[in-house]
Amino acid sequence: MGKAYPLEPREVAAVETKYRKICTQIPVPESVPVLETLRDNEPQSMSGQPPIVWDHAEGISVHDAYGNKWLDFSSGVLIANAGHGRKEIIDAIVTQAQKGLLTSYCFANEPRADLVKKVIATAPKSLDKLFLLSTGSEGTECALKLARTYGHIKGGKKKNVVVSFNNAFHGRTLGAQMMGGIPALKDWIVHRDPDLVQVPFPDGFRTTDTSFDLFLSSLEKLGVTGDRVAGVITETYQGVGPDFLPVEYAQKLREWTSENDACLIMDEVQAGFGRCGTWWGFEGYGIVPDLVCMGKGFSSSLPVGGVLGRSEIMEIYGPGSMTSTHSGNPICCAATAANIDYLLEHKLTENAAKVGAVMNAKLAEIKAKYSDVVGCHHGKGLVAGLQMVTTPGTTDPNADFCWEVVRRCFEMGLLFFAPVGIGGGCLKFAPPLCMTEEAVTEGCEVVDKAIADCLAK
Ligand code: PLP
Repeated sequence: MGKAYPLEPREVAAVETKYRKICTQIPVPESVPVLETLRDNEPQSMSGQPPIVWDHAEGISVHDAYGNKWLDFSSGVLIANAGHGRKEIIDAIVTQAQKGLLTSYCFANEPRADLVKKVIATAPKSLDKLFLLSTGSEGTECALKLARTYGHIKGGKKKNVVVSFNNAFHGRTLGAQMMGGIPALKDWIVHRDPDLVQVPFPDGFRTTDTSFDLFLSSLEKLGVTGDRVAGVITETYQGVGPDFLPVEYAQKLREWTSENDACLIMDEVQAGFGRCGTWWGFEGYGIVPDLVCMGKGFSSSLPVGGVLGRSEIMEIYGPGSMTSTHSGNPICCAATAANIDYLLEHKLTENAAKVGAVMNAKLAEIKAKYSDVVGCHHGKGLVAGLQMVTTPGTTDPNADFCWEVVRRCFEMGLLFFAPVGIGGGCLKFAPPLCMTEEAVTEGCEVVDKAIADCLAK
């Protein structure tokens, strides 16, 4: 279980730089009633983040109402790809709201037409249909249903298996959790679907065999033959690391799924819209999947998800039989279209590649400097992770140490979300894609100091 941050204000050293300002106790005493109200009225599951009450945020900065300013390495949780509070997105929301159309269910509206056309124009040719949803989990659930239905058409009801990976995360709804590969998150599910199976993910850290043969031998051990597989779903990179597939593995997986008439589903909820230094994360593998799940950075703002895919699969369900109440909400669509325009016009994918290279070089240095506690550094574009370990040379997660590093950074004006990963040992870097080299360098220096401070304790 994660930890809730204590709400007793602590004296911390004042900080003032171009990007960070801390001028109060932390948490700010005046903000504690708000934090307490949340703790009193919400389940504790909502209390895992550092105790800041967000007031406003713009670009790479998050502010409270008391004069403090954090350099943001979280993007919320990989949401604000375009940067926070973009005027263009706000204007699109306000303009659409002022038109007087707040919802239209699945009746047509113009922002929805504009958005689906815009997104498909940025996608590989074969991915020519987009179904809009509200969250990432809805997208992965929908992809599961589509893959299975497509499997049944191709091979009958026995073609029902959907393969996913150990340590995968696809959301918190039932199907998404059964496809997930983190055992603790599935403890509550007594009757597991026997046709949702997991194989090891070739992360190169916990699973050192990164060959595609491991995929094949794992399926064989599970007694699953290709003719029974309706689909394979993987995050483009596993969020827990972040861990990427070896390119050769991804390409072999693409070949294998095609040969077996199985849908290849890339969960791009974290990876899409420039995050990895390519518009779609899967471009880094030189492959095109059959279905793509989207969310988070898709809008940089309001809740929007979706599934993009090949018509042959996307058209299986007839009129009215695959819908969602808030699919294509006009305000969400206007915001999302403005986000896509912003990301493209400001070349934030290219910026993620360029600034991400600087960030990852700095993190490699930090890993080398603190190799006793930092067991692994993986990253690409503007997403990265430092996995903290208890014992040098092992993969044993050091959640307590990682939590202290997040807290120390927070007190110095650098914002991370709470540790993620296997056993909570991963310090995850996911700044907005408008991050600059100067700011990312400053942030990495803060991380270096935070690790040193925590080691000195
Ligand atoms: N897929 C991935 C890879 C995710 O990281 C997440 C959320 O963290 C989801 C799916 C679920 O998205 P949501 O929380 O919007 O339902």
